Amino acid sequence: MTYPDTELFIDGSWCAPARPAWIDVTDPATGQPIGRVAHARPADLDRAVAAAAKGFDIWSRTGVFDRYKMMRRAADILRSRVGALAPVMTAEQGKPLAEARAELAAAADIIDWFAEEARRSYGQVIPARSPGITQMTVKQPVGVVAAFTPWNFPVNQVVRKLSAALAAGCSIIVKGPEETPATPAALIAAFDEAGLPAGIANLVYGDPAEISAYLIPHPVVKKISFTGSTPVGKMLAGLAGQHMKKATMELGGHAPVLVFDDADLGRAIPVMAGHKFRNAGQVCVSPTRFLVQEGVYDRFLDGFARAAAAVKVGPGSDPDSTMGPLANDRRIPALEALIEDALESGGRLVTGGKRIGNAGNFFEPTVLAGVPGTARIMNEEPFGPVAVINRFETEDAAIAEANRLPFGLAAYGWTGSAERAHRLGHEVQSGMMTINHLGIGLPEVPFGGINDSGIGTEGGSEAIDAYLNTRFVTMAV
Ligand code: NAD
Repeated sequence: MTYPDTELFIDGSWCAPARPAWIDVTDPATGQPIGRVAHARPADLDRAVAAAAKGFDIWSRTGVFDRYKMMRRAADILRSRVGALAPVMTAEQGKPLAEARAELAAAADIIDWFAEEARRSYGQVIPARSPGITQMTVKQPVGVVAAFTPWNFPVNQVVRKLSAALAAGCSIIVKGPEETPATPAALIAAFDEAGLPAGIANLVYGDPAEISAYLIPHPVVKKISFTGSTPVGKMLAGLAGQHMKKATMELGGHAPVLVFDDADLGRAIPVMAGHKFRNAGQVCVSPTRFLVQEGVYDRFLDGFARAAAAVKVGPGSDPDSTMGPLANDRRIPALEALIEDALESGGRLVTGGKRIGNAGNFFEPTVLAGVPGTARIMNEEPFGPVAVINRFETEDAAIAEANRLPFGLAAYGWTGSAERAHRLGHEVQSGMMTINHLGIGLPEVPFGGINDSGIGTEGGSEAIDAYLNTRFVTMAV
């Protein structure tokens, strides 16, 4: 596999930036540069906005069945390239090849789902008070979309926004992740090769702050979608609000896992450990605060620590690795500081806790126990392979702790009681709650947070609505 350099994609062509400037791309398994990505400047953004305005004109007038067929073709092209693209994603992001393949295959399924949703973006006929009146709602695409996506799922973070926008009839400018640019570019290339007309999907990279400050206030841009951290999301949502732009925000979480005395630990431990260390914990829905009832606490802690110690950390390109390096070297000091603070606060290190070697961003799968609620890691998203396992006595105490933080993205419950499962489903304040299995992230189910974890959903039948205006038309005939 040769890692490709990535150009900008504007108005249907791959192009170098107007003023030559490039950003290095690094392999997180080695710390060595492997390629580069074009750095867009305002002149490039001007062209992208003009192209997207033209693209919207074309796409919003394209029949919904043609949009559907084109998207299905793009999904098939992407699906046919999963094997070739997985090593590219592993090289730029670090995740094991199996995870890269799964992400790419899932992306094709997401395109298919939204293609089908395009054909179901129904309005309503509303019963009128008087005879001779017909009143109805009409769904129309919002216009040009600006999407900002991060590096943890290079393709999936783009595909949810891109597919929903295209299904709705919008055009889009994606500001992709500079750390992992080649596979998002391959996704856009699949749409180009499927026959998407020029200008409808555009891809830029550069200085995230410069690009968001340019695109969000721009009068041509009508809708913002951002995935990333809560502080950046709040800032961008504020800017979108100032300019009265619709915004979808998929932000950070701090997922609680409630494990009760009547839980099936034989399933809970392997499922939750696998989920915790997937993508080295760099997942917004990664389980973080494990709250375990005292009757099973010792067994759960012991079983989970063994599962953590059994994770095979190594380069994602090695088929034996079950966890790759962290995607960015800046996560290493961030995790070290959180762990040090947890231990100083009175927590106990059960396993892991430090960087592995000094080349590449490898970090030990880490389990902390008995960490007080005041420690930073109990309040800030670790975004790495670190689990905190604390004890609780009563159901009320566990639910109160689960709901203590301003985040509300994912939550997990394990119990043998149907009554308790019902209570968790209703009372744990999170956008997504999965009980006794792992069931989030499929295209057809909602994906999004509440409170500080964001606004809107990027999955399920509601997702396309974020890219549509609902207009009301009434007529007397
Ligand atoms: P960061 O806060 O610097 O950046 C997060 C993302 O926001 C990146 O993709 C970055 O390019 C983008 N960004 C930053 N400033 C921006 C701006 N002014 N305009 C537009 N985009 C901007 O953090 P990081 O070190 O890259 O990642 C660590 C933190 O980010 C994690 O702790 C996690 O909370 C969050 N994160 C969340 C997700 C997610 O899936 N929700 C993904 C990646 C990162």
